[in-house]
Amino acid sequence: MEKKQISILGSTGSIGTQTLEVAQAHGMGVYALAAHHNIRLLEQQVRQFRPKKVCIYEEGQYAKLQEQLADLPVQVLCGMEGLCEIAGDTHADILVNAVVGMVGLLPTLTAISAGLDIALANKETLVAGGSLVMEQAAKKGVAIYPVDSEHSAIFQCLQGNRREQLHKIILTASGGPFFGRTREELANVTVADALNHPNWSMGNKITIDSATLMNKGLEFIEAKWLFDLTPDQIEIVVHRQSVVHSAVEYQDCSVIAQLGVPDMKIPIQYALLYPERMPCPTKRLSLTDYNTLTFEKPDPETFTCLKTAIAAITAGGTAPCIVNGANEVAVAAFLSGKIGFLDIGALSQRAMESIEKTEITCYEDVIAADTKAREFVRSAISK
Ligand code: NDP
Ligand code: MG
Repeated sequence: MEKKQISILGSTGSIGTQTLEVAQAHGMGVYALAAHHNIRLLEQQVRQFRPKKVCIYEEGQYAKLQEQLADLPVQVLCGMEGLCEIAGDTHADILVNAVVGMVGLLPTLTAISAGLDIALANKETLVAGGSLVMEQAAKKGVAIYPVDSEHSAIFQCLQGNRREQLHKIILTASGGPFFGRTREELANVTVADALNHPNWSMGNKITIDSATLMNKGLEFIEAKWLFDLTPDQIEIVVHRQSVVHSAVEYQDCSVIAQLGVPDMKIPIQYALLYPERMPCPTKRLSLTDYNTLTFEKPDPETFTCLKTAIAAITAGGTAPCIVNGANEVAVAAFLSGKIGFLDIGALSQRAMESIEKTEITCYEDVIAADTKAREFVRSAISK
């Protein structure tokens, strides 16, 4: 098997660092790396993996990074321009988009127009601009390999079966640290409580999304776009152990699931090596370690983010983009202590209900809706 060259946007994050572990385990080439502001780790990664290009998004750190890397033959870039230069560079065989948030949309679209396949972790890209991304990817014949564990599971359960014989998908959810609590009990939870996820160690933004269950709402929308489903073909089931990563039910009543230990290296590797299944640097699953696997209904009345996200994708157009933009600002405000936990859901819902929704015909429509949502939440918080 020929060794692939990969480029990673968000290489210093939770998905980014695990992607490098997988790449190293398989002797893959690292063509380019990018981060937001962590130049210390980015420099270490450049010294270890010797990419041809590196980008730091924050322009204030650019000169410093250039100076730190002056002894190496690496081109140093910055800002959105730098991210897009990497995203559109077809010297790589695959782009891993592992940045967090809407900022990943333009690089994703750039990779698609260059014809570069994408391993997509950046789910916000599909939530905000799913119709654009999927349409353009189909037009260009670009493959989008899911990195999100649930979507990787579904993708795996679709292999060797007929897509038109799919009945529905079962999207599993860990339920996060607060599943089973009442709204009264959620009112005063702290940032530290919310960051304490029972099964997964992830970046801060997605960990908060997992606690509010917005993550599952975003994943519902992500699944709709990746697998061309209608909302009524997606069932969410709470499965506290995160062993069954999701399942597909076919017309004949057979349900095919994908299982494994909760370790993102498995879905990352499947996206990078598809369709190969090579040894992965993680633990093997031992079902008897678990004794019991549980499955429960979600509680959208308590975890209103779930309800808001599903209402948004059912409404269509820019509604999911508005919910995503509002949620990004609200989560950042919660993390910096400006609002309470339940305000995240309340603000996302109010943004979706208050802001006018339009169809999405181009990138600018997405940006306009995202900007309105962010302004709405910022102004609601400052009142
Ligand atoms: P982290 O916060 O751990 O990492 C985010 C990465 O993106 C960092 O490398 C960060 O750089 C970089 N980044 C952020 N903004 C920019 C920017 N403007 N330009 C360039 N780089 C940027 O997040 P995660 O790895 O947890 O999540 C990444 C994506 O993957 C999210 O969309 C998340 O929803 C999704 N995902 C994550 C999972 C997980 O297990 N972590 C599971 C499934 C999906 P810096 O370090 O400099 O800040
Ligand atoms: Mg997931």
